[in-house]
Amino acid sequence: AKNQGCGSYAIHDQNMDAEAEQRSEMGQALRQALLNDEFVLYYQPKVHMVTGAVTGVEALLRWQPEGKPLVMPDRFIPVLEETGLIVQAGAWVLQEACRQLMVWRSHGMPPIGVAVNVSARQLQSPGFVELVERVLKETRLEPRWLELELTETIFVDNASDNVRVLRRLADLGVSLAIDDFGTGHSSLSYLSNFSPRTLKIDRSFLSEAEDGSDNVVIARAIIALGHGMGLNVVAEGVETEAQADFLRGYGCDQMQGFLLSRPQPAERMEQWLRARIQ
Ligand code: C2E
Ligand code: CA
Ligand code: CA
Ligand code: CA
Repeated sequence: AKNQGCGSYAIHDQNMDAEAEQRSEMGQALRQALLNDEFVLYYQPKVHMVTGAVTGVEALLRWQPEGKPLVMPDRFIPVLEETGLIVQAGAWVLQEACRQLMVWRSHGMPPIGVAVNVSARQLQSPGFVELVERVLKETRLEPRWLELELTETIFVDNASDNVRVLRRLADLGVSLAIDDFGTGHSSLSYLSNFSPRTLKIDRSFLSEAEDGSDNVVIARAIIALGHGMGLNVVAEGVETEAQADFLRGYGCDQMQGFLLSRPQPAERMEQWLRARIQ
């Protein structure tokens, strides 16, 4: 069995090499994609759980290489992060999302919020707070309509530096949300020295969520924890009426998911928003 293990290691290494090569090729292609403006934002709405009122949209990045199929973020975000290109790409996302929100307003739509995902590497990059400040000023978006979604990983490494940056962002008046809450392997203690405005329950807790299952117990506990700390709790990845019902029953504040709408390009999202608001 040991020998077999050795053999499978060699194969594993080869796969790793091939994978590393593929990634570095993708890194090159992504660098070019930034120059060629091949990124697009899709938007997914979020509504108030009880009234159904639209509270905002989340901006989700897509890569559209010319003449090729759309590429989803799970495939390219890790490469953007490894190469550091996420700093540049993330700046574009922030700028574009805020700009789009103001375009919708200029079309006479009632104000809604926009949530932008921010990776740890981006948060830690020099000048990030200044970037946010500049984008808000240039787009004239009031800070409270911008929500930055961060995962718990930022509380694992360089936690105290990161908390300092988060405080400065909070001072600007932007909203902060903890994304994928409950999956991050971080201790909960950070919540007591830094308060986000929102917790987003990871969608893994909604799958197979039938009454009495462990996931339902966890989702319920997260809602109680969030409310105990005065936070807004959002469920993501809501796909069925049954999920919406139990979340509503437990007092979850807002929801997002395919049940409402899949992420869509700006124009289609605008149509969706109009239909919903009238
Ligand atoms: P996330 O921030 O947790 O975003 C939610 C993901 O769940 C999105 O996948 C969305 O399309 C998907 N989703 C929403 N509702 C449902 C549902 O009802 N069912 C299911 N099965 N899925 C649902 P997407 O767009 O592929 O994005 C994947 C991840 O990529 C995001 O997860 C986020 O971590 C990352 N990402 C996307 N855009 C950006 C970005 O601009 N910057 C950074 N740093 N990360 C991004
Ligand atoms: Ca998110
Ligand atoms: Ca999430
Ligand atoms: Ca996620």
